Amino acid sequence: MGVKGYRLGLNAKTLGITFLIALLVVGATALTARAFERLHALVEQISQVEMENLMTSVRVVQQAESLISLGLMLYAAETQNERRRALVELTDRTVWIRHMTAEVSAVGNHADMLQRVEEIQQQLDLNIRQLNHLVRDRINQRIDADGQEELRLLAAQNRELAGELSVLMGYFATQVRLQMTQQSQHLQQEIRLHQQNLVALALFILLFAVLAGAYFDLTVVRRILKMQRAVSKPVVSVQDFEQRGTDEIAQLSQTVRSYIERIQQQEAHMQCINQELSFLAEHDPLTGLANRRHFHAAARRLLRQSSLPLCVALCDIDHFKRVNDQKGHAVGDVALKYLAELLADGLRETDVLARLGGEEFAAILPVQSLDDAERLFNKLRHSLEVNPLCLPDGETVQLTCSFGLALVESTPLALEASDDFAEAVLDAALLEADQALYRAKAQGRNCVCVAKTAIQANVLVVAEGDQNE
Ligand code: GH3
Ligand code: MG
Ligand code: MG
Repeated sequence: MGVKGYRLGLNAKTLGITFLIALLVVGATALTARAFERLHALVEQISQVEMENLMTSVRVVQQAESLISLGLMLYAAETQNERRRALVELTDRTVWIRHMTAEVSAVGNHADMLQRVEEIQQQLDLNIRQLNHLVRDRINQRIDADGQEELRLLAAQNRELAGELSVLMGYFATQVRLQMTQQSQHLQQEIRLHQQNLVALALFILLFAVLAGAYFDLTVVRRILKMQRAVSKPVVSVQDFEQRGTDEIAQLSQTVRSYIERIQQQEAHMQCINQELSFLAEHDPLTGLANRRHFHAAARRLLRQSSLPLCVALCDIDHFKRVNDQKGHAVGDVALKYLAELLADGLRETDVLARLGGEEFAAILPVQSLDDAERLFNKLRHSLEVNPLCLPDGETVQLTCSFGLALVESTPLALEASDDFAEAVLDAALLEADQALYRAKAQGRNCVCVAKTAIQANVLVVAEGDQNE
């Protein structure tokens, strides 16, 4: 096959489509996996980082609120012990708050606000230290009126700073919650988008599978069914098989087509042989006339059908032995063919003429009377007498014939008459004709003799009826 006429075979198409479907499925799986991975990451992000931020900021709010009461405790301390306890608690809280805000600032995106938180913490540290000194001086009663006033102001400022810290962290917590809500909405949107993508991809794969199915129905299933119907027809015609195309089914169709053509050729050949065989079974190969078997069958048919009397004639070449002896067997054969043609030309198509064997011929034909038949055969006899056989070398062979005729009256026989009965009538007529032929030979040959009595078929019919009874 040339490159120009190259087409993809079914095998290649099937592999191609399978590969495409596999690619789509792998693509869909990869897309789904990626989508879930992304969702997983988002959920994790929300659940861990933001949640931690939220919880931390809430805890900072609580701690900042407790700073207020602890600051008051320090301010109100009357003994050194109370002062130290309050200071330890306060220091512990501020360290704890610093540690938590450091965690939040590491991931948060509210830089200004966290900067302010940092400043407040430093201010608070400073305030607590100063407050502690002043409270210690007051307990030791080494404080003057200005110191008292400064102590009061520091306590008030301390409360404000802790309050501001609490408010800022509360605000931060609100921002984180807001961010979580936004991310949750974003996540829902992403989920919806992935859902839509997956549904679209599933629809595309479905459509592709349906189209692939339809394509295979058209290119494979229907063509095979068409071929199956064509083969199942009572008369198979090669026209029903596709001639074009190069794929596997087209090749199969072309193979079936040439197989059917071969079978049809063989059938035609067999028919010719059968015709030849059936011709040979019923005809004499030398002259082409009917043989004895066919003569009897045709004569039986004529006996049943003819409404006219039938003449049964026997013809025998005179001194044929001499022809063979003097001219050779091959010339004898030519003479037999020559006589066969002469007799066939003189009789009608519907008359039955046969070569019974050797140089003996027989005919059966409808006639008006035996006299008519005698005239006809005399004419044929005379024709042979005056037309000697001319051989290719210019030599001539003089041939004569003797005829014996018999008549069967009262035809047709009853159609229901048996084959045996028709055969009996024919045998009787042949016997009469043979006796007439014998007389013709005895009278000196080259003449026509007729039987003395006609065969009365009706009488034989009655006789057969009697026998049956
Ligand atoms: P009569 O006038 O008494 O009939 O004499 P005849 O010589 O014709 O008689 P006979 O029946 O004795 O001879 C017939 C001869 O026909 C004998 C045989 O050699 C010859 N013959 C039979 N069949 C064929 C054939 O197919 N071809 C040839 N060439 N001769 C045949
Ligand atoms: Mg003979
Ligand atoms: Mg003879």
